[in-house]
Amino acid sequence: MEQIYEKLGVSRAVYEYGEEALAALRSRFDEIDRTAEYNQCKVLSAMQENRVNATHFAATTGYGYDDEGRDNLERVYAAVFHTEAALVRPQITCGTHALTVALSANLLPGDELLSPVGAPYDTLEEVIGIRESKCSLKEYGVTYAQADLKADGSFDYDAIRSAINGRTKLITIQRSKGYATRPSFSVSQIGELIAFCKSVKPDVKVMVDNCYGEFVERLEPSDLGADMVVGSLIKNPGGGLAPIGGYICGTRECVERCAYRLSAPGLGQEVGANLGLMPAFYQGLFLAPTVVAGALKGAVFAANIYEKLGFSCVPNAAEDRHDIIQAVTLGSREAMVAFCRGIQAAAPVDSYVTPEPWAMPGYDSDVIMAAGAFVQGSSIELSADGPIRPPYAVYFQGGLTWYHAKLGILMSLQKLVEAGLVRLPA
Ligand SMILES: *Cc1c(COP(=O)(O)O)cnc(C)c1O
Repeated sequence: MEQIYEKLGVSRAVYEYGEEALAALRSRFDEIDRTAEYNQCKVLSAMQENRVNATHFAATTGYGYDDEGRDNLERVYAAVFHTEAALVRPQITCGTHALTVALSANLLPGDELLSPVGAPYDTLEEVIGIRESKCSLKEYGVTYAQADLKADGSFDYDAIRSAINGRTKLITIQRSKGYATRPSFSVSQIGELIAFCKSVKPDVKVMVDNCYGEFVERLEPSDLGADMVVGSLIKNPGGGLAPIGGYICGTRECVERCAYRLSAPGLGQEVGANLGLMPAFYQGLFLAPTVVAGALKGAVFAANIYEKLGFSCVPNAAEDRHDIIQAVTLGSREAMVAFCRGIQAAAPVDSYVTPEPWAMPGYDSDVIMAAGAFVQGSSIELSADGPIRPPYAVYFQGGLTWYHAKLGILMSLQKLVEAGLVRLPA
């Protein structure tokens, strides 16, 4: 084993350091595997109930009328998320698009959107109109209110109660921290928040941005009262096989409006050819629980390696996981570059390229990114990125297999050791 890792560029010292950390993680990994087992059963049961068969994998083109593969996939998703309905489409281009459809379909001029968990994910700022943008919700007369989290990251129930008013139509809860420093929320915390909001205003609708959270726990927010859960197929639920797409699972009322918004009033879910993507969508969903487990093991392994070396990690080495993202504060530009070069060098695709910090639209500092993915930008595949500014943290996520995630983390450590930025304890 040491030899094959040496061939890949991992020294014996780094490999052995990793094995030592790993030896203490067996019970954590067992727990992750048990969740994957449960979720595998959940997905299988949904596929069996809906009698998935080879005809569902046929390609359709044009309008896509009577696309039974597409319609049945939506029934399978609804069964997995325990919702009345689902919209799962390659025409939903990414997570931001799925969220935009869900929001704009369910908010009308004069309505207010409330985020009770602080600022939403960066790309939603323009969707909502927090940052001025053409075609934002704000431009269409939808206002936005926000209740920030308390300093300790918990919900500020008083602030939320006073933010809910007669115009509050939809409440948006982001499960994952995304690229913020707040904690990610467990499904049970989200359930409590939903119950609270509905106790203040029984007819308010709640949407959960479920990105990066799917299959991390046994329950999903739709099990605890969310009217819609929304995410990207090039993250967790696509299992690494979906090359595009997004989903919205929820009540029939909400999902129907989403379908009318996505295609056209009157057309709704009836149109939208599957373009031959059904095999990838079905098989990706089938693999998703195991893929998510691999990514989670990678995140736990990274936190345990880097925390022991003195770097602060969010979540920390011991915490429960509510999404697949791992932040490691490396403290310097050089360390961020070395870390990302290690992740890149471990990739199956583009392993020979060297990531460099670069200016990116929407950021006020240079950004470094490492990704060698089969699907462009797919963040269920192993990737790392971060803005080059204090506290110099990299956000690390994904890995289609645990072994690849492991190699990526070992390579990141190797590059830090080679650059003289980390000394392994003797
Ligand atoms: C990734 C992500 C999004 C946006 O998804 P894209 O596919 O990048 O558009 C939204 N919210 C959260 C929490 C995310 O992690």
